[in-house]
Amino acid sequence: MTYSILIIEDNEQNRYLATFLLEQRGYKVASACDGLSGIACAKELRPDIILLDIQLPGMDGYAVAQTLRRIDILNDTPIIAVTSYAMVGDREKCLDAGCNGYIEKPINPETFVSEIATFFPTKILNQGSP
Ligand code: MN
Repeated sequence: MTYSILIIEDNEQNRYLATFLLEQRGYKVASACDGLSGIACAKELRPDIILLDIQLPGMDGYAVAQTLRRIDILNDTPIIAVTSYAMVGDREKCLDAGCNGYIEKPINPETFVSEIATFFPTKILNQGSP
């Protein structure tokens, strides 16, 4: 089984790096550049997990998470906020908005995929093992 991940991120370099790292590990990746298109993608694709940038143009990540949580088919989908370390108090706000966890920016290529994997069920953790 291939697990699918939706990345909602406006920064092209971050989007590219996250996509590259995840595809390299065999995940199916889709991405969106802003909140509204991200929500539309999430409804259509019903990904196994959503990575959500908090600093987005227009609708910010908190509003996106709150909106996703009100959509029945996405109610259980893990949402991982990707937040800048500089944003103090951000973590609690992410969790309050409906995110399941957070990963700090800048993305660390060494640990990024394994950090995300902790939010999958156990069976998915085993997927990457040879
Ligand atoms: Mn951003």
